[in-house]
Amino acid sequence: MNDQRELSVAERLSAIDAAIADAARRAGRDPEDITRIVVTKFHPVSLVRELYALGVREFGENRQQELSAKSDALREESERSGFDDLRWHFIGQAQTNKAGQIRRAAHAVHSVDRPRIADALDRVADGGASLDVLLQINLTDDPGRGGVAPAELEQLAEHVLGLPTLRLRGVMAVAPLDEDPASAFARVHDYAARLRAVAPEADWISAGMTGDFAEAIAAGATHLRIGSAITGPRPAQG
Ligand SMILES: *Cc1c(COP(=O)(O)O)cnc(C)c1O
Repeated sequence: MNDQRELSVAERLSAIDAAIADAARRAGRDPEDITRIVVTKFHPVSLVRELYALGVREFGENRQQELSAKSDALREESERSGFDDLRWHFIGQAQTNKAGQIRRAAHAVHSVDRPRIADALDRVADGGASLDVLLQINLTDDPGRGGVAPAELEQLAEHVLGLPTLRLRGVMAVAPLDEDPASAFARVHDYAARLRAVAPEADWISAGMTGDFAEAIAAGATHLRIGSAITGPRPAQG
């Protein structure tokens, strides 16, 4: 083994997919039921093309400008090389004044955490397909972390259900740094059940990143958001 050699993107991707499949089997789950979103933030669009060539179709970005830039670049190329089946997941804090750009680029928004952003995303619909949305839940006591407070989950869900162009798909959460991810994701599992009580079809659980995807899978995650383990270290933030 040559541990010094830097692994290729293809090698990292297949190692992570093997680890996902392992974690799924250990949890008694079918790996096919788990969607692996590759988070390409801070990486150039060339990496998106490389991952696409390796079969990746679900991509995540956490900043609107970067999402729009990559989405626009590939949309222009798609007439020639076909990126038509690529899906963008917006996973960052969403600003209401950027709702139009987010909606134009994203197929799913994981970070709906207040009625105002849901209203803004609904208002900018242009008659196309409905937008998949997830309710981000704040697992910390710090309101600045983003996410709806668990106590307000049902209220936000009812609000989103009343917006005709949004399709409520499930919950999203980021494990707090100072808590064991298994216990944090156990709470997410309960919140997901609470959401299904008011929206039975909203059965997605977006949870799990590079450091905690196995715990997320054990707690029922359906969508993993994995960045650095696949892309390699992120370049300096612009
Ligand atoms: C960056 C990011 C990820 C991926 O993080 P890694 O630790 O690189 O896997 C997942 N979710 C959100 C919300 C992120 O911002």
